[in-house]
Amino acid sequence: MIKGKGVSNGINFGNVVLLKKEELKVEEFKVDDRQAELKFFQTTFEQVVEETKQIAEKSSGTEKDIMEAYLAILQDPTLIMETQNMIQNEGYNAGYATKVGFNTIIQMFKAMDDSYMAERSADIEDMKNRIIAKIVKKESVNLSHLPENTIMVARELTTSDTAKLDLKNIAGIITEIGGKNSHVSIMARTHEIPSIIGIENATQILRDGDFIGIYVDGDQGEVYLNPTEEELSKLKQLKDEIMHEKEALYDFKKRESITKDGHRVELVANIGVPQDANLAVENAAEGIGLFRSEFLYMDSETVPTEEEQFESYKVVVEKMQGKPVIIRTLDVGGDKEIKSISLEKEANPFLGYRAIRICLDDVALFKTQLRALLRASHFGNLAIMLPMISSIDELRAAKRIIKDVENELDQKGIPYKRDIKVGIMIEIPAAALIADHLAKECDFFSIGTNDLIQYTTAVERGNEKIAKLYTKYHPGVIKLIKFAIDGAHKNGIFCGMCGEAAGDSYYIPLLLGLGLDEFSMNPSKILKARKSVCEANFEECKKLAEEILSMASATEVEKRLKEYGNTK
Ligand code: PEP
Ligand code: MG
Repeated sequence: MIKGKGVSNGINFGNVVLLKKEELKVEEFKVDDRQAELKFFQTTFEQVVEETKQIAEKSSGTEKDIMEAYLAILQDPTLIMETQNMIQNEGYNAGYATKVGFNTIIQMFKAMDDSYMAERSADIEDMKNRIIAKIVKKESVNLSHLPENTIMVARELTTSDTAKLDLKNIAGIITEIGGKNSHVSIMARTHEIPSIIGIENATQILRDGDFIGIYVDGDQGEVYLNPTEEELSKLKQLKDEIMHEKEALYDFKKRESITKDGHRVELVANIGVPQDANLAVENAAEGIGLFRSEFLYMDSETVPTEEEQFESYKVVVEKMQGKPVIIRTLDVGGDKEIKSISLEKEANPFLGYRAIRICLDDVALFKTQLRALLRASHFGNLAIMLPMISSIDELRAAKRIIKDVENELDQKGIPYKRDIKVGIMIEIPAAALIADHLAKECDFFSIGTNDLIQYTTAVERGNEKIAKLYTKYHPGVIKLIKFAIDGAHKNGIFCGMCGEAAGDSYYIPLLLGLGLDEFSMNPSKILKARKSVCEANFEECKKLAEEILSMASATEVEKRLKEYGNTK
């Protein structure tokens, strides 16, 4: 058995598909039969065009846009002119001619003044590699079409790899590097795909076609290569148990989120891409508490246009049929890199140029998103959430820009939701400490524990070496959560939470007791969380919260909350 770090729970079986990203070696030689070589090139090229067409037809959203842009380039006859000439007139082999011919075009695009056109050179590079891979018969894995029960094994899965993944056929994911909060890990949790990171040399130990069992429970990730009969039956039994537990939760789809003594809260979903709204509906979410809009920017080589963003936001608000949909404005920087927005390397990116700081600086970028958000607000119950707010001045500045955009839309007669709610993330200790001031000038809070924990305890959220110190049970973190909730309530606004802690069954009684109004989590956690709420007694949770607030040690807090949860 091979161990790694679990990032998405579950048990599954399947066959390994290795994603190898090797350099393609192209030899240079002359051919005898130029016509046959030309035909070979043309047939290979047609295959790439046909595959791209098929992917474009089957995909949606940003991926469809990317594929359609690829197609437009592929259909331009000048793209392959140089390559064909090199084969026909000079007798070069197809692989070498493709390399040189396409490189000429790539250089031309790179030299263009228009930054959009210059960026297309990366697309042409991608196409060149796909054609060459076919020619040298080293076709890389087609991530959009995977065999059933694929266990994807890779050194790393980037955001754009993740965007392409054929999710219905993936039984598990194993990578050598990655983080619990990387795009692929969040996506795996959303889609309930067991996933393990940190298995050194996984791409060497595991081979294409190997049969494996993957088991993830919390941080514990186990890979069973060619499992024995005994291992197989143990894993199957565990899988059945998990299945039954899940089925037992189906009843909670119809239940309201009310404690035994009548205290109502809202259980809503965190999503990353518009399609995830389907999972929110399937799991009976009462709305969307966090739409991480930066994922739209991550899936694309270029910053998404106002129109593209508008379509994505509109799809979600319409899907949620009047239920609240909180969309967070761009939260880039820190651990979130986006190809289309190049940020300078910083010594301390988590404390640096990120999120609202970038948006207040690059007002055009911010306004494009705000226009898309406001226009989409006309089609449902949309609210805007600002990330990484640390001061009242930032909140005021952001609200001024929102007002400007509203005025611009008014002048053009474009409709939007007049009383649109503007809320903020409480994920910086300074914001929690001035929560009562901030609450006077916004419509809601959502506590981002993922960042709040790291900034309060000075423990980086993705650093494995100090992972033990990264804890939501730290009394300092809990005090700040209380500050935020009290600040909100004193000023008559609601306080939610969209950090991972909101979906933790052991933590929910404490959050109920502290008075949290809205719990936003991975869609797959909602039914279990509703069970915890329905079985809780609000008055008892308040007493529990008081007891916890008097404690000094994170270990004691954790022990007490687990003890409490296990007696329920
Ligand atoms: C958080 O910080 O808790 C949060 C929800 O935001 P993200 O994880 O996207 O930084
Ligand atoms: Mg955050």
